[in-house]
Amino acid sequence: MQVYEAPIKDMLFNLNELHEDDGFGNLEGFEDFDEDVTAAILEEANKFCRDVLLPINWPGDQEGCRIENGVVRTPKGFQDAYKQFCEAGWSSLGVSQEWGGQGAPHSIAKMVEEMTCSANLSFGLYPGLTGGAMVALEAYGSDELKSFYMPRMASGEWSGTMCLTEPHCGTDLGMLRTKAVPQDDGSFLVTGNKIFISAGDHDLADNIVHLVLAKLPDAPPGVKGISLFLVPKYLPNEDGTLGNHNNAKPTAIEHKMGLKASATCQMTFEDSKGWLVGKPHRGLEAMFAMMNTERVAVGIQGLGVGEIAYQSAVYYAKDRLQGRSLSGVKNPDGPADPIIVHPDVRRMLMTMRAYNEGSRAVSAWVSRALDAEHASPEPEARARAKDFVALMTPVVKALFTDLGHESAHLAVQVYGGHGYIQETGVEQFARDARIAQIYEGTNGIQALDLVGRKLPDRMGRNLRSFFHPVSQYIEDNAGDEKIGKMIAGLQQAFGALQMSTGHIAQKGLKDPEEAAAAATDYLRLLGFVAMGYCFAKSAQIAYRRLEEGADDKPFYEAKIITARYFFDRLLPPVMAQMMAITSGKASMMDMPEDAF
Ligand SMILES: Cc1cc2nc3c(=O)[nH]c(=O)nc-3n(C[C@H](O)[C@H](O)[C@H](O)COP(=O)(O)OP(=O)(O)OC[C@H]3O[C@@H](n4cnc5c(N)ncnc54)[C@H](O)[C@@H]3O)c2cc1C
Repeated sequence: MQVYEAPIKDMLFNLNELHEDDGFGNLEGFEDFDEDVTAAILEEANKFCRDVLLPINWPGDQEGCRIENGVVRTPKGFQDAYKQFCEAGWSSLGVSQEWGGQGAPHSIAKMVEEMTCSANLSFGLYPGLTGGAMVALEAYGSDELKSFYMPRMASGEWSGTMCLTEPHCGTDLGMLRTKAVPQDDGSFLVTGNKIFISAGDHDLADNIVHLVLAKLPDAPPGVKGISLFLVPKYLPNEDGTLGNHNNAKPTAIEHKMGLKASATCQMTFEDSKGWLVGKPHRGLEAMFAMMNTERVAVGIQGLGVGEIAYQSAVYYAKDRLQGRSLSGVKNPDGPADPIIVHPDVRRMLMTMRAYNEGSRAVSAWVSRALDAEHASPEPEARARAKDFVALMTPVVKALFTDLGHESAHLAVQVYGGHGYIQETGVEQFARDARIAQIYEGTNGIQALDLVGRKLPDRMGRNLRSFFHPVSQYIEDNAGDEKIGKMIAGLQQAFGALQMSTGHIAQKGLKDPEEAAAAATDYLRLLGFVAMGYCFAKSAQIAYRRLEEGADDKPFYEAKIITARYFFDRLLPPVMAQMMAITSGKASMMDMPEDAF
């Protein structure tokens, strides 16, 4: 049974209480989005996600997409849902007013994104990619391209894609073969084959705006020779009406493990007319603007699936009767107690809950930094926010998707055999969540980005944007009566993180393989310290609110219990990751290739 109601209280807690004072100051330009407006937006988004997107999630998975006469058809109900989504203004929520958007802060838009991903991950990809494409276009497109394409994409009338992957090149984009030949009128003719293109073709929007990586005839070899092109499916006329088909065609859709209602297409471009976005040979830089946005978005996909998996598991754990509680019968009128009484079921539910609340808290922190990067009145705060976003982007992407996947599997476990069969809809979460660990750069590549680029960048400046607030917080609150034990746990984990950082910096300097061998463990440790910091602060706020006699006592009490569970059960094993990190690369790399 797929059950979902957006965790609005927790979302508002993160926005209004936890990250109220996060060192980035008051942000300019978001004055219209006060607490009441924010709550109203989240309420409306919840209704849409619960009542429109959730009912077509499982049927969409069962039906999947299909290709008919060269055109992709989405499952029943998707067209109507997309129309409603755009008409209600959800496609333009976080888009600047300059392009006809509503200019909402990232911190609100990301909460709505989480809801979309919970209710229907496949659906969420269509507008999600459009949003990412708009980020690249806004940052690197010419004024002409922007004024023509951005408003149509903001309204959802036209959608977007990112076309990087080719059959022989995924992670290593330097090998790509798609070509772009300059034309006298300033345009380019793009020719090549791409695979795995999400939303490459569909029947939701009138036109599709592909952002395609390709090489110019004079391109230097490798990643320094890649350029970015905007290639529409239909060539638009000056008034925006659609002209000829531009030979950007889906040749097949991939048959995949999950995410079946999202059309993943093999695409061919054959002398398809396109326009350069950004400078020649600097396409990766422009594409990275999109990829960084998408990486945070994919992290939120992990959280979204984790949340619906948790809620669906709670529903079942209260309903399913098996065995008796070890502490005495809880359901004397029934033949057995609900399985939620059993400690092992509690372990699974509490783990999912803590993963979700911890991820949401870190996500809200990063989203607020995304806003501060542009909207803080102080240059210093803007720079600090930028450093923090750079550091945390790979962490959000990899950690949240790993945890979302773990949660989805825990939900299957809570359902027992009923989770493994299809009718309950729970195994869909596990299949859908799996891809988020792979696309937008695999989680292994995210970890390499963290240790190889983000840590050493400008002598560790990105890291300071995270280490400073955490160490200051520990110092200021070490004597706190209520959360003293949590602070002690946080201090220990932070110590392990500092030692691991020193180890990687020292060993990695002489031998990059040493840093690479430690990368995945290090990313998890850093992410858990970030969650620990947020949990300690959350519990502290909750204690304070309870003392003040807050109305919503059960919410704050539950927040404290979840934080306690995190510090008792989830943080200690991750601390031990320091042992793996400092053990070095030898046992990983010594095995001769022939012995595998
Ligand atoms: C459903 C779906 C949707 C997708 N959507 C899009 C899309 O919209 N647009 C798009 O362009 N692409 C898309 N992709 C492609 C996706 O981004 C790639 O699959 C992914 O980046 C990995 O590339 P690959 O599959 O070629 O794996 P490879 O690059 O072959 O990697 C295989 C394994 O080797 C590891 N590896 C590779 N190189 C290194 C290295 N240097 N160091 C350490 N480990 C390494 C990887 O981590 C991975 O575990 C999608 C894929 C799927 C399945």
